[in-house]
Amino acid sequence: MSDDLSRLTSSAYSQALEVIAAVEPRIAEATRQELADQRASLKLIASENYASPAVLMTMGTWFSDKYAEGTVGHRFYAGCQNVDTVESLAAEHARELFGAEYAYVQPHSGIDANLVAFWSILAHRVESPALERIGAKNVNELTEADWESLRKELGNQRLLGMSLDAGGHLTHGFRPNISGKMFHQQQYGTDPVTGLLDYDAVAAKAREFKPLVLVAGYSAYPRRVDFAKMREIADEVGATLMVDMAHFAGLVAGKVFTGDEDPVPHAHVVTTTTHKSLRGPRGGMVLATEEYAPSVDRGCPMVLGGPLSHVMAAKAVALAEARQDSFRTYAQKVADNAQSLAQGFLSRGANLVTGGTDNHLVLLDVSSFGLTGRQAESALLDAGVVTNRNSVPNDPNGAWYTSGVRLGTPALTTRGFGHDEFDRVAELIVDVLANTQPGTTKAGGPSKASYVLGDGVADKVKSASAEMLDKHPLYPGLELS
Ligand SMILES: *Cc1c(COP(=O)(O)O)cnc(C)c1O
Repeated sequence: MSDDLSRLTSSAYSQALEVIAAVEPRIAEATRQELADQRASLKLIASENYASPAVLMTMGTWFSDKYAEGTVGHRFYAGCQNVDTVESLAAEHARELFGAEYAYVQPHSGIDANLVAFWSILAHRVESPALERIGAKNVNELTEADWESLRKELGNQRLLGMSLDAGGHLTHGFRPNISGKMFHQQQYGTDPVTGLLDYDAVAAKAREFKPLVLVAGYSAYPRRVDFAKMREIADEVGATLMVDMAHFAGLVAGKVFTGDEDPVPHAHVVTTTTHKSLRGPRGGMVLATEEYAPSVDRGCPMVLGGPLSHVMAAKAVALAEARQDSFRTYAQKVADNAQSLAQGFLSRGANLVTGGTDNHLVLLDVSSFGLTGRQAESALLDAGVVTNRNSVPNDPNGAWYTSGVRLGTPALTTRGFGHDEFDRVAELIVDVLANTQPGTTKAGGPSKASYVLGDGVADKVKSASAEMLDKHPLYPGLELS
């Protein structure tokens, strides 16, 4: 930020907090404290980032007050002319940025985007042909008996997605999730030896299972995916390829993932969040081919509540930022820094799932330290290092305690961390874990949750972090009065 912008931002936020404090001072105080806490911690959560003040400020306006169910020019409420401007612009930026035929910017979150995608695939592939067979133009013309058979048909479809413990997301067919209940589901994993996606195994599963939807994408897989291969598999079995790029949308936007690694030219439907590596407001988005556009367009009010117009406005601002050259530089640094972080661990003898990374995250297997993911996550937090525990493939400790810690570079790269800092971060993390002992349960047995962190380690790591964090301030120049 330029000095002028920092000055404006400082006074805008200081005054906004005064306005809030006049009504509920505890919220103003919590907001100040959140900035202080975020500034003082090493944020390595792979799904988090820091959006620009322009993006954040855009969310705090009267667009929040407007109802705008429907689509641009086609609303269920009057007075949506300015929301139309906002939504059109956000969609245009998204189409241009990703080279997509169609963009739907209303989803409130990544999960909502996936629900819209599932609904639209079912509507396009199952409902429309069923109506045609019956000779009905739309569902209003169905008899009770038609409804009954349509419901059965919609509810009997198959989905193949990546398993949670291989790095997939809950919404990719995990049984307890709605995606694992509305679809008959099967999951593909990774190779038990290399930890890598095995496309032949995915293809074999797809041939046998014949899914309507093949889902690719991940939350905790530290490698790139060949989406051209995924599309070949989908085509062979007649599946719709849906790619959930929630985690790596920033690397696609920043042209780090191109060709076969760019999902947009290969998938029928692409979903994403806007707040992870893409660095926008908290929200979701669906990109689709022309073929799927009409059914995606009905996301609200079929699946979604009224659009968050203030967030769509912030999406437009963030997407405009992502179209600048500086975002490409940022995305490349995110990937380069992940290399530095991975090398930092490997050179100190730590184990990484798949032996490294070629995206924005690493999955550290902490079992060699004699710890569960839960113990590691807690000990690291004591030392001011914010991460999240994550299962590793075939995790012996299950999804709650886990054996891994997931670390990503998007947030600290936004602060300006580079190679040396990420190498140092790896060193500090190894230092914490090597000095953490598993605790015991009340009955005296080994605990998966409690732990003992060596004397002085937390303070030592905190002061080493503080030095780096001070050198790379969050929102430089932003001072609250
Ligand atoms: C984070 C994530 C989501 C969910 O996003 P929310 O905005 O939290 O709903 C969906 N899919 C993947 C792959 C994710 O990583």
